[in-house]
Amino acid sequence: TLSDRLTSVLKNLRGKGRLSDADIDATAREIRVALLEADVALPVVRSFIAGVKDRAKGAEVSQALNPAQQVIKIVNEELVSVLGGEGRRLEYAKNPPTVVMLAGLQGSGKTTLAGKLARWFAGQGHTPMLAACDLQRPNAVTQLQVVGERSEVPVFAPEPGSGVGDPIDVARRSIDEAKRNHQDVVIIDTAGRLGVDEELMQQAADIRDAVTPDETLFVVDAMIGQDAVSTAEAFRDGVGFSGVVLTKLDGDARGGAALSVRHVTGQPIMFASNGEKLEDFDVFHPDRMASRILGMGDVLTLIEQAEQAFDADQAEQAAQKIGTGEMTLEDFLEQMQAVRKMGPLQNLIGMLPGANQMKDQLSEFDDAHLDRVQAIIRGMTPTERADPKIINASRRQRIAAGSGVKISDINDLVTRFFEARKMMQQMAGQFGGGGGGGTRK
Ligand code: GDP
Ligand code: MG
Repeated sequence: TLSDRLTSVLKNLRGKGRLSDADIDATAREIRVALLEADVALPVVRSFIAGVKDRAKGAEVSQALNPAQQVIKIVNEELVSVLGGEGRRLEYAKNPPTVVMLAGLQGSGKTTLAGKLARWFAGQGHTPMLAACDLQRPNAVTQLQVVGERSEVPVFAPEPGSGVGDPIDVARRSIDEAKRNHQDVVIIDTAGRLGVDEELMQQAADIRDAVTPDETLFVVDAMIGQDAVSTAEAFRDGVGFSGVVLTKLDGDARGGAALSVRHVTGQPIMFASNGEKLEDFDVFHPDRMASRILGMGDVLTLIEQAEQAFDADQAEQAAQKIGTGEMTLEDFLEQMQAVRKMGPLQNLIGMLPGANQMKDQLSEFDDAHLDRVQAIIRGMTPTERADPKIINASRRQRIAAGSGVKISDINDLVTRFFEARKMMQQMAGQFGGGGGGGTRK
């Protein structure tokens, strides 16, 4: 499996000090084979590997992780990003009802999904309705009616005894019915065939034209493997879709289809189905899928813990230096970078209790200001960072030229740094000094 392969590849990297180009190339070759074995389509594998290589070559050597962990981290992050990063929300119609059409091969799980989606919408405070537009198979309507009963959502279907019925007509009338009954979401279940088929595509396209859906969801069985690409392309060209739903994730598929469909069509994966029951359903989580494809959930957790432990270590060291008044600009820069990893500064400040009353004092701490401060410190030599007292007029000029700031910005930073350090020394003196962070008796 992919997991086994990666584990053995990465074993070879363990113990080496840093990633060399040869390491990265060798790893990339193995990951490539492994992804192919997991049923990811070839063009997708190629582009994915290229991304991983680029990042691994440009990456700084991490102090917190060993090279093996570092490669896994990069592979994982790239996977999450290809799978869609943060994803997006469903589009709702300005004038209800919002129309959601389901399309996909027979057996992909559309009808089952219709009930799950309906329940999900109801949970969000909507009043959904199901429309039975699969009139291909004799029992398809009955199946949707059962689904509707289970999910406690009304089903619009052609009247019994009215003959075969026209799915396009049913779709159109279902919208009118929803308007009359104030149902604000209509989920349209459609017919599928076992394979891609002209007539099927035409029917789906006709339904689409009749109801102009706000979302068309392409439903695809995760077990479909390599066929995912051609099927997705056929539905993209024949009907078009705005999102993807992966089903049967409770099976043993590695998730190669997810990567392929996402990459080939560029459409986001919105939901995931993982069982036959109504509650076997969730919005799609790229990070969970990445972890599944890699099959290394435990390793990923370890990596996270290693990084957190490293950060805590650094913070502890810095706290001790502050306590003894030994803080340098180098420490200051490190601290600042650690904090900024957590996101834009104004967001962090917004989370502080009472920050609103202090808006004016805090407003200068914007990211542009911190960018300037970081640029200044980076423009200093290690000696200057360790002992800012030596920064005289000519050094200031050099730093200003190198970091693109005004000399007065440098004066500002150095003055504030000394003030802060003095204040910390005083505080440390008051509270007994010594190692910061420890408990006192
Ligand atoms: P449709 O032809 O696209 O409407 O597919 P159905 O909704 O009728 O599903 C086909 C079969 O797959 C049924 O037996 C479902 O119970 C089953 N099925 C659907 N979704 C899932 C899923 O997420 N996991 C599993 N294990 N079975 C599913
Ligand atoms: Mg069906």
